[in-house]
Amino acid sequence: MLTAKDNRPAAAKSELPMTLRVYNTLSKTKEPFEPVTPGKVGIYLCGPTVYKPSHIGHLVGPVIFDVVKRYLEYIGLDVTLVINVTDVDDKLINESKARKMKMADLAREMTDDYLRNLAAMGVDTVDHFPRATENIDEIIRLIQGLVKKGFAYESEGDVYFDVGKDPQYGKLSRRDVTALQGEGGEMAERKRSAADFALWKGAKPGEPSWDSPWGQGRPGWHIECSAMSRRILGETFDIHGGGLDLVFPHHENEIAQSECCHGKPQAKYWMHNGLMQSSQEVGKVGGRNTRTAEAGDQTAQEAGKIGKSKGASAFSELLKRHSPEAIRFFLISTHYRSPIDYSEERIQEKAVGLEQFYRFFKRYARVTGQSFYEIVPPETRQAHDFKPGNDAMLRQTADIRKRFLDAMDDDFNTGGAVGVLFELLSALNKYIDDERLETPGKHEETRLATLRQATATLAELAAILGLFRQPVETRVAGGDDTVGKLMQLVIELRADARKRKDFATADKIRNALGELGIALEDRPGGTEWTKS
Ligand SMILES: [Zn+2]
Repeated sequence: MLTAKDNRPAAAKSELPMTLRVYNTLSKTKEPFEPVTPGKVGIYLCGPTVYKPSHIGHLVGPVIFDVVKRYLEYIGLDVTLVINVTDVDDKLINESKARKMKMADLAREMTDDYLRNLAAMGVDTVDHFPRATENIDEIIRLIQGLVKKGFAYESEGDVYFDVGKDPQYGKLSRRDVTALQGEGGEMAERKRSAADFALWKGAKPGEPSWDSPWGQGRPGWHIECSAMSRRILGETFDIHGGGLDLVFPHHENEIAQSECCHGKPQAKYWMHNGLMQSSQEVGKVGGRNTRTAEAGDQTAQEAGKIGKSKGASAFSELLKRHSPEAIRFFLISTHYRSPIDYSEERIQEKAVGLEQFYRFFKRYARVTGQSFYEIVPPETRQAHDFKPGNDAMLRQTADIRKRFLDAMDDDFNTGGAVGVLFELLSALNKYIDDERLETPGKHEETRLATLRQATATLAELAAILGLFRQPVETRVAGGDDTVGKLMQLVIELRADARKRKDFATADKIRNALGELGIALEDRPGGTEWTKS
């Protein structure tokens, strides 16, 4: 029984003004976001099949849904985020045979690689990573339910979903019921119809297998997600996410399984992110894909998908050439439903954009004596008691903040939000210039208070995107600030040399640093350094 105390947080949260709209693949429209249970949100995102090291395409969904969760929590909701790991599959069996190792060992190695990459990218909001092989009982129970209700049938040790029994089949992808499932060969002969798909596959000799009412075997891919989402989030939850390539058949089949078994919707909102495409191949005349892929077009985007192209090198290699923050910035600079054109030059461009923020943080530290990274931003939209009054800078800041939140409310338009963040950055730099805050001397406390308040807003909005969570020099130095301190020492030695009018030494220091890719910039309040 719920007591009044238990009820209080949910009741308070349900009174929040909910202005968020979310594009739902099911209705093909943007819908007002209203959680199934007031105050709470469950999100299930389809994760990787762990048979090879992650490439950048595997990081797109987790980074996007990490931002989605951050924003939902910011507007006051209690969010549970689940990303599953498929650790039994034909691809895993084949790869483990090729590498002469156990499937479980291969899965563990590749899952570790995936989790390391998520951590590097700052994706630390995931509550559960369920593995298929740890949920076999739940999967068997769901298949039994479908067999009992007449939606599934056993055939020579396999179990298939009978698509003809589901009048709603095809409602997500709006495809013809007779579309093939891609399960040909021997399996095709065991199906009643080509449209049927496997829930359970009888084991061949030597393959990993589990006991079941239909003999030794292993689960099909689609049933894993129906079973694991039910166990963790319940029969109906809020958001089911995944790449656009999963709409058909994977998500169509998940809906069929879950909804035929439970008689209620599996998820209220179906969100699909655009696929990452190699810009060398997309749109290339005479290439495989001469169409321009658009948001929501599964067939066109799949043709240029990066997993199928030469751009798909191991993500751990990419991390050696680019900072995780630059890659994250690259991923969120496009609207999540649009395809992302991949090239390392584009990541580099984003790194240059980030440098503008890092330079401002140094100015801010010089002016206020406080590190930007020490600012504790408000955790929720409501906690922000921002009253601009008559201060022009704060009024501008409030307007920019509103436009940032409007962009996020419009189907998580992170690309628009990033653009607004640059406006705030320009306004802050201009304020320091106009008020000459970097010129040594006494400054009016109200000017500094305004700068602090406006900068706290920058920290607040950046936190929603998961940006600027720790100083970049710290990350370069691998956890301590040795590089930052060494640079401070070098800058002081150069300043001493200049004071002595020993310009030869000062120039020698600058040139030597330049050869290391470190640029010095002399400003009224001191010298700052950046590494290219
Ligand atoms: Zn799935």
